[in-house]
Amino acid sequence: MDSVGVAAAAPDAGPGPAWQSKCPWGAPSTTSISCSLADVMSEQLAKELQLEEENAAFPEVVAAAEGPFITGENIDTSSDLMLAQMLQMEFDREYDAQLRREEKKINGDSKVSISFENYRKVHPYDSDSSEDEVDWQDTRHDPYRPDKPTTTPRRGFIGKGKDITTKHDEVVCGRKNTARMENFAPEFQVGDGIGMDLKLSNQVFNALKQHAYSEERRSARLHEKKEHSTAEKAVDPKTRLLLYKMVNSGMLETITGCISTGKESVVFHAYGGNSATEDKVIPPECAIKVFKTTLNEFKNRDKYIKDDYRFKDRFSKLNPRKIIRMWAEKEMHNLTRMQNAGIPCPQVVILKKHVLVMSFIGQDQVPAPKLKDVTLSSEDMKKAYYQILNMMQQLYRECNLVHADLSEYNMLWHDGKVWLIDVSQSVEPTHPHGLEFLFRDCRNVSQFFQKGGVAEALNERELFNAVSGLNITADNEVDFQAEIEALEKMNEDHVQNHGKKLSTFSSDGDPPIYDE
Ligand code: ADP
Ligand code: MN
Repeated sequence: MDSVGVAAAAPDAGPGPAWQSKCPWGAPSTTSISCSLADVMSEQLAKELQLEEENAAFPEVVAAAEGPFITGENIDTSSDLMLAQMLQMEFDREYDAQLRREEKKINGDSKVSISFENYRKVHPYDSDSSEDEVDWQDTRHDPYRPDKPTTTPRRGFIGKGKDITTKHDEVVCGRKNTARMENFAPEFQVGDGIGMDLKLSNQVFNALKQHAYSEERRSARLHEKKEHSTAEKAVDPKTRLLLYKMVNSGMLETITGCISTGKESVVFHAYGGNSATEDKVIPPECAIKVFKTTLNEFKNRDKYIKDDYRFKDRFSKLNPRKIIRMWAEKEMHNLTRMQNAGIPCPQVVILKKHVLVMSFIGQDQVPAPKLKDVTLSSEDMKKAYYQILNMMQQLYRECNLVHADLSEYNMLWHDGKVWLIDVSQSVEPTHPHGLEFLFRDCRNVSQFFQKGGVAEALNERELFNAVSGLNITADNEVDFQAEIEALEKMNEDHVQNHGKKLSTFSSDGDPPIYDE
């Protein structure tokens, strides 16, 4: 294969990539616009996936059948070797894609094109491995070879008698070594040795070759590090494939990087795509919340979901992995309720297992600041306070929800207003601990705004009553808390006796029914 392929020679240049033989004189017809790493990787992987599963169209429905990679039911993803091979393949293909981009960049519209084919890690043809090992740097078609093959013919020498020239001839060998330099990785700058008629001795060539090799390995290592520090962070292979699929389906344009790494979730930023199959419009920017499948972190959160009657029937039957998916599902349902009530919050795009895609609060990859990180004017502070008071009431009355982790950490300041996020743990007020959670939320909010200088801010007990519509009269925290617990107990007893919850907490009758 040509290292530098003069186009006229292309037809007999042996097996090569389709684009090269199809269009010998021009730039490849399938020009790819430059795109992010994640994008490339996903495209590569997508092809693989598509082969694996003919019907790889990204299902709209959450519970729809999924490919073997995703479910892990048909393929043993626990096999380290398989995973390692998959990852290696992914890396190799990505390397090749980068190579192709370099190639295109260099060639442009030029009639004379340079081929990096020899550097590809995934070859479209079976290379003679023994030959590769011995003479990895040798090209199949040496473009620097003069028209008449005067040097190093098969039998190792030319000429007769004292004019015999062997392949060990210093000058010939030197020139050849110089030409071989071009076979070093493309990023390895070798200069125009051929133009200068440079003759490299074997010793120098070997030293250079060694150096080129280690450079290549070093750059691969750096590359890998960088990759792992962004989108790859804290995401297991299965999750990665899930994310790739989202990009492949066109739902997402590209995943740009990690916004937040928490104990229970990792949040990524992505640009929305324009998937043809989806009815709904994908927001231009998306946040992808990946619920961590490290089970430990979720153990102490059992109480939120175990006692949530919406999930009660399912809870006991589920394995821990499925419970984590339930967190994601819960966040989705809760966000939908909030959206319906007009509370500023991320809009749900799609839920896939433990991965929730929603609209991004922020702009140009910069997430909106948390309330704890932003310095508001006293006017905005007051505005934010009243808005939150209002939102808490809406959440309770219209959505029949208690946030249960409400604080300046889970409120974002964007477009001159407060946005509520992080509602996977939100529960209905009649949850066995629902009122306690609400009281804790009220305490956080009161303290934040009182410290923030909002004179009008109610104290936590007043706020609790204002939100719940309950009228707990205790004037100290301990008694107040006791009354709350008494109410919760009363509700539980009622459930025990009548198999149904009291609607005491809901100011407007029975909890609304949502057909989500
Ligand atoms: P955790 O359980 O890790 O606290 P969150 O839902 O609070 O999960 O997300 C963590 C962080 O990610 C948030 O503090 C916020 O900075 C960012 N984030 C989450 N969702 C969004 C979103 N839709 N838009 C912008 N940033 C978000
Ligand atoms: Mn949070």
